[in-house]
Amino acid sequence: MIKTQGGTPGTDTGTPDVITIYPDGRFIGLEIKRPDGKGVVSPEQNAVGKQIQRNQGLWYVIDSWEKFEEVWRDVTTLI
Ligand SMILES: [Mg+2]
Repeated sequence: MIKTQGGTPGTDTGTPDVITIYPDGRFIGLEIKRPDGKGVVSPEQNAVGKQIQRNQGLWYVIDSWEKFEEVWRDVTTLI
């Protein structure tokens, strides 16, 4: 698993905050947002997310523990 800081030298803007690979090889990108609803997915983050999904990867926006649990259920049952 890799924790990134988008926009810093060497990491493009829009890169997911957390990048990991499921044991079957599937790429997973997680965009983490604050839980108070004030976090906004930027156009760059959205564009990178769509690119990941077009390439058979998984991309999710996580803004709460409940959302994380929901995504984890998805990931472990859909794959
Ligand atoms: Mg973020």
